[in-house]
Amino acid sequence: MMRGDVDLPGRRSHFLGALLGLAVGDALGMPVEGMRASQIRRTFGRIREFMDAPWRCLKAGQWTDDTKMMLCHARSIVRTGGVDPEDTAREFVRWFESGDWRGMGNATYESIKRLRAGVPPEKSGERGELAAGNGVAMRIAPVALADCDDLASLKEDCRKVGIITHDHPEAVAGATAVAFAVAKAVRGDLEPSTILRETVEFIGDCEVSRRLLLASAFLQKGMEVEEALVRLGTSGYVVETVASAFFCFLRSPHDFEETVVRAVEGGVDADTTGAVAGAISGAFNGLEAIPERWRAQVEAADEILELAEGIFSLKTGGRRR
Ligand SMILES: [Mg+2]
Repeated sequence: MMRGDVDLPGRRSHFLGALLGLAVGDALGMPVEGMRASQIRRTFGRIREFMDAPWRCLKAGQWTDDTKMMLCHARSIVRTGGVDPEDTAREFVRWFESGDWRGMGNATYESIKRLRAGVPPEKSGERGELAAGNGVAMRIAPVALADCDDLASLKEDCRKVGIITHDHPEAVAGATAVAFAVAKAVRGDLEPSTILRETVEFIGDCEVSRRLLLASAFLQKGMEVEEALVRLGTSGYVVETVASAFFCFLRSPHDFEETVVRAVEGGVDADTTGAVAGAISGAFNGLEAIPERWRAQVEAADEILELAEGIFSLKTGGRRR
């Protein structure tokens, strides 16, 4: 992939689709976070509409920490003109201090506490087994947009901003896998039949890669989504989230709604599987592929689209089509 061999100015809708798709997947999964797939099916049947979640004081269309953190990245990128770990860390602290946490993960909580105590962002991240969560993969889409024309920078930036909260090679690898797919999708050179193999090549040998190859084998067998997600996993472990989100996308690459509905119905960390699948599918299919009823109801759609537009302008020098 070379610089300048893609017509980025014609890809505006895909920049917007990536960030709004993430928020939509997050909001759709919000009310069923923590439930098992079988329990979701018994209680709600299909999940095709946003729902209120009075027990977490959130209304239909509102999203969780995934989108909160995505917005931290997006604001920082638009303000500074690039991916800046120090500035991103300040955004995280600002979010922490707002008190509007929306289900902030443990690794993130501990890391931001360290940032507030003066620990620099390259040293603030949680380490050890518990740091292999999906808290970077879920929020990385804006970085993918900012670095979509430079994959070496993309890889380096995923690590730099990832370790602010999750100083673990799998958490970084999972985020890099998602960022790679989103970057390819917004550029217009994501090919569904080869993206898994290319992603594995890009991130190298690791648990995330091994689970992605398992997803690939399941896709080749034509396995149903329900069964595949039980086997790939939908917990907060990044290896599971990334493989399940890619599976949902590749089972219905041209159908945003089907992809995020299936991702969310996998349960457990449903909002995050939904957010990751939504970012990839939204980047691939563009804003118009997101159902109008969701675009109209998802929280802060205008702000999200404005930030996506801001990153798009950075990449295209403000040229519009
Ligand atoms: Mg969440």
